[in-house]
Amino acid sequence: MSLRFDAVNHVSHDRSNNPEVHSQKITAIFGESVFNVKTAREYLSDEAYKSLVNSIKGSKKIERNVAGQIATGIRAWAEAKGVTHFTHWFQPLTGTTAEKHDSFFTLKSDGTAIEEFDGAALIQQEPDASSFPNGGLRATFEARGYTAWDPSSPPFIIEIGNGKTLCIPTIFIAYTGESLDYKAPLMKATEALNKAAVTVCNLFDKNVTKVTPTLGWEQEYFVIDEALVNARPDLVQCGRTVFGASPAKGQQLEDHYFGSIPERVYAFMRDYENESYKLGIPLRTRHNEVAPAQFECAPIFEEVNIAVDHNILLMDVMSRVAKRHHLVVLLHEKPFAGINGSGKHNNWSLATDTGVNLLAPGKTPKTNLMFLTFFVNTIKAVHDYADILRASIASASNDFRLGANEAPPAIISVFIGEYLTKVLNDVESRVGTKFDEQDEAILKLDLHRSIPELLLDNTDRNRTSPFAFTGNKFEFRAVGSTANCGHPMTILNTIVADTLNKFAAEVDALIEKGDKKEIAIMQVIQKYIVSSKKILFEGDGYSEEWHKEAEKRGLPNLKTTPIALDAMVTEKAKKLFKENNIYSHSELEARYEIELEKYIKKVQIEARIMGDLATNHIIPSALKYQNELLKNVSLLREAALPEKLYKGQLALLKDVSTHIQQVYDNVDAMVEARKIANNIVNSRDKAIAYEAKVKAQYFDKIRYHVDKLEQLVDDELWTLPKYRELLFLR
Ligand code: ADP
Ligand code: MG
Repeated sequence: MSLRFDAVNHVSHDRSNNPEVHSQKITAIFGESVFNVKTAREYLSDEAYKSLVNSIKGSKKIERNVAGQIATGIRAWAEAKGVTHFTHWFQPLTGTTAEKHDSFFTLKSDGTAIEEFDGAALIQQEPDASSFPNGGLRATFEARGYTAWDPSSPPFIIEIGNGKTLCIPTIFIAYTGESLDYKAPLMKATEALNKAAVTVCNLFDKNVTKVTPTLGWEQEYFVIDEALVNARPDLVQCGRTVFGASPAKGQQLEDHYFGSIPERVYAFMRDYENESYKLGIPLRTRHNEVAPAQFECAPIFEEVNIAVDHNILLMDVMSRVAKRHHLVVLLHEKPFAGINGSGKHNNWSLATDTGVNLLAPGKTPKTNLMFLTFFVNTIKAVHDYADILRASIASASNDFRLGANEAPPAIISVFIGEYLTKVLNDVESRVGTKFDEQDEAILKLDLHRSIPELLLDNTDRNRTSPFAFTGNKFEFRAVGSTANCGHPMTILNTIVADTLNKFAAEVDALIEKGDKKEIAIMQVIQKYIVSSKKILFEGDGYSEEWHKEAEKRGLPNLKTTPIALDAMVTEKAKKLFKENNIYSHSELEARYEIELEKYIKKVQIEARIMGDLATNHIIPSALKYQNELLKNVSLLREAALPEKLYKGQLALLKDVSTHIQQVYDNVDAMVEARKIANNIVNSRDKAIAYEAKVKAQYFDKIRYHVDKLEQLVDDELWTLPKYRELLFLR
């Protein structure tokens, strides 16, 4: 029996080994595997505790000897929980997390066995970094990089089977100081934004001393039976199906959206949620998504650094817990053609240490002006650096989503809703007139009342916008489901920091010239509204008209990764990242190189999988069927039956034979195109060749003929699980 039928049988009959999930009160388990501030209080001396808290609050450096005390406290806590090993946990540019486990166990010089975890081991480790991508930053003879403890993200315990490992969140940097991960730049960008935002806040409120970007992500994913996935080499290797005819029923009825969650998936969700709660990930919502077998979860928002760690951790936890349930989580942006793909909306805002959300409309004229300042600066940042923001979400897998009629388009625009559009128009219409203090434009910004209207907008019209204001935050919707959102968040924080710095300078200049503060602020806001207006769009982002309109406005529409990435290394980008101390030129070049490499490899792997499946699955099945038809036709002919009685078989035979030949021809041609691409030395040219000459040229074509064969060949002979099985069997 083929793997396919074995798997189908398995799904329908064998339920005996699905684990039971017990309901637990969330507050009883929340954070129990995290060395948080409360645990620290319990396990650390006053001195060590204070030092740790100060470091978390203000990034103050922890002294070596204190680090030793903290390490001892962490070990005591971890050992009490049965932990034997520890690892520095980091986020290299491969896109997954990396760990290298060491045990606490060690031998003293006299041979006595002891458990040890000292300050040095907490602060710094040296994983063999040679096989992590570095974009040429380190020649192989100097393949040294090290991980350094990030005290602002608390250590946690990961349980795999019966083993427990202490994970220390770290950044990953080269010996020469360049960052080799997603976390170090994010922390720099967060700091840059903090500084810039505090300066601007102080125009309104001198009490603000810290501003933190906040992130609440929404993670979409598919859940598929493990046995069925194992019978699909493409899902196993690329996380997406390269072939598969549309089932009779897809998502036309939209009956899956917010429908009841299937029992098996529900058990899996409760299980991974429990694991997440233990790790301090504050998950709050779960529901079905639009496509069959698609779901979403979202936490309560947190400081951006922690939120990013939690998202990466969650993706890992989900994948592991799924195994226990004999399920597989697909995080890929487009696992199935013809139905929706998955994204990861990044809800982003700014919070002050005085407890104010800077993107929430205020209740008084003064707080409204502060809101308007941050609101307009964000729009201006997106306007000025739209290309760089677009590049931050570019990947081979997200290319399947952006530009298709389901996700925000590759054109970056900002949705703000009717009311705020009117507010900005009012301010703009005053160009040429001077604001005064008793001005309506300042005093009558009745933003508070507009919130219900904004929420209404949120639910209907702005779903197609890549960057939408949703009442008290911006939602960056074009981020892909597999992404480490640390990267787009680094970029967003940097461009807003840069814009706020310029804003503060312009306001200062006007004040120096004698303008009153509020008037100066209004003047610059007005200027920014005028100059960034073309990024605002309230209509349907999927529509053909918008594509035309965007072109007229001069907004870039970069549909493929190799081209979108250009924006990372322009003079403008180099200046931006250097001035804000995020990336040096060489770091930027390296990252660009790594992104191109990743793209090339992803497309290359998919092309190979297509070839393998066509040769080892599709064609053999189709040949068997072709032989059956041939036998049938020749026997009919022998029996001297009139041909009009087997016209159907003859037509079928012709169709099957045509598609078989087309698959052969196109796979061969694709292999040739790959060879040519592989000989290109320049990474950008090579990536473009892979995009245009391999992917665009052959993927759809090969798929077309394969999917036709799937619909023609005897179901009994087809070896790959079909969409209707993958998506609808549970
Ligand atoms: P919905 O969009 O489903 O109506 P919410 O608006 O409450 O729900 O939130 C959606 C996401 O936005 C959640 O992940 C939430 O944590 C996040 N979020 C809400 N407020 C903020 C904020 N100030 N900063 C960042 N994220 C936020
Ligand atoms: Mg949302």
